Amino acid sequence: MKKAVIYIRVSTTKQVEGASLDTQQKLCQDWASRNDVLVKKIYHDDGVSAKTLDRPAMKEMLAYLEENKGHIQYLITYQTDRLSRNATDFFALRTLLLKLGVQYKNINSGIEDSDNEELIQNLEAVLAQHDNRTKSTRVKHNMKIHAKEGYRMSKAPLGLKNVRDVLDKSTLAPVVGIADKVASVLEAYSTGTYTIASLIKMCESIGLKSATGKPIQIQALSKMLRNPIYAGLEISIHTEGQLIPSKFKGIITPATFHRNQELLRSNKNTAATYKKNNPEFPLRRFLVCSKCNKPLTGSAPVGGSGKRSPRYHCSRCHLPSVQSGELHEQFLHLLASLMPDPDMEKFLKEIIVRVWRDETQTLGKKQKKLHKTLEQLTERRSKVVEMLVAGLITVEEKIEQVARIKEESDNVQNDLTSVGSLSELKTDAIDYAMRFMSNAPRIWSNASIEHQIIYQRLVFPEGIEYELATNKFRTPKLSALYTLASMKKDPSLTNESLLVISRGIEPLLPG
Ligand SMILES: [Zn+2]
Repeated sequence: MKKAVIYIRVSTTKQVEGASLDTQQKLCQDWASRNDVLVKKIYHDDGVSAKTLDRPAMKEMLAYLEENKGHIQYLITYQTDRLSRNATDFFALRTLLLKLGVQYKNINSGIEDSDNEELIQNLEAVLAQHDNRTKSTRVKHNMKIHAKEGYRMSKAPLGLKNVRDVLDKSTLAPVVGIADKVASVLEAYSTGTYTIASLIKMCESIGLKSATGKPIQIQALSKMLRNPIYAGLEISIHTEGQLIPSKFKGIITPATFHRNQELLRSNKNTAATYKKNNPEFPLRRFLVCSKCNKPLTGSAPVGGSGKRSPRYHCSRCHLPSVQSGELHEQFLHLLASLMPDPDMEKFLKEIIVRVWRDETQTLGKKQKKLHKTLEQLTERRSKVVEMLVAGLITVEEKIEQVARIKEESDNVQNDLTSVGSLSELKTDAIDYAMRFMSNAPRIWSNASIEHQIIYQRLVFPEGIEYELATNKFRTPKLSALYTLASMKKDPSLTNESLLVISRGIEPLLPG
């Protein structure tokens, strides 16, 4: 009597009618009894795909057939696609079976022992693969729909994690302690005052590391700056290369992201940002064309008289350019119009000084705490040595503990350094802010190009739209400092407004 094994596969628990595990098994057994074949073993793989042969029962079955070479004559399946959905795998498998003296039977082909059986099996294998492709096309289509709705279809970048929303759809969430660092790096770059090299230093000083715990490298940083997901925007093949709003709201504003792209574009050789800040055009990249939203660029064509004529223009729109001297004059007028009245100035100074005092106090407290931690670590270190002397620990243990303590104190030491530089910068920033608030036009005129750029962003955090057609500024968004100044003196402006002010100063700080 000939012998057989049966192989059954159900891809999901909700297997389509007529091909459930029981049905498959019954039909295969029926065929065996009809043909006087004894079923020795039944293998089944549950809930696995047939795209590869890497399935537990499949492997077990092949091992069994090999061991019992010459004793098993048939492998029975309900349908070819149960065995494999990959034509190449199927042909390889059938060749192997042939070598083992096993004939493959798919009982659902409706043809038994005909000359055409092999041909039909081949066709079925190819069709199964085709069906497989259609399926993955369907999966891709679904992914595309989800992606177009703003769901995350790929791995989260540094500082973010993949999560499921209430509808169990995939989206992202910030990783506490890392996301804010990423945001501060991205925001710092958008001020236009950082080179990539100085940004890498900033990552180091604030302790932002790669996912593997290594220092951030140029490539990773460049990727981070270009990744729109941090601004709550998605772009992928699923969105057909279009930026679309993500379900994840982001950790920086889209404006910051776009400004960074503009900065990256205009500084192909980003390491040279400072050099690229041309003193002739301080408002370049700060003013945007009101028609197309592209930052204005500067150039100095030589006129008919042979003289250079520096001008700002939009490189996209065919609008007349504007002479840079004229535009700078206009900008100074705008700054002058923002000057707070003397009363307000005094009031603002008071607030700024108060903020400053509060912040230095906080920083001072932080410093004290860090010094204390450092002391404790030194104490711990001498205890370890005592323990070694007393024979309570081994030399290896001592070395290990001392190394750990050293690492901890290095970290504390780093924190201390950054707190120190932060308080220095704060003093600096407040000084700038105060002088600038009361005499913006003069300070801007006399400042270096780097400081001009900082001032501009300090006052107009989102830049200014300029109408080349009419030579006019559009009403710009003011920084919190000036929003406050333009308000009439209000007794309710007490401690609550302090936060607003400190945020206005933020662009000067590294993080
Ligand atoms: Zn334009």
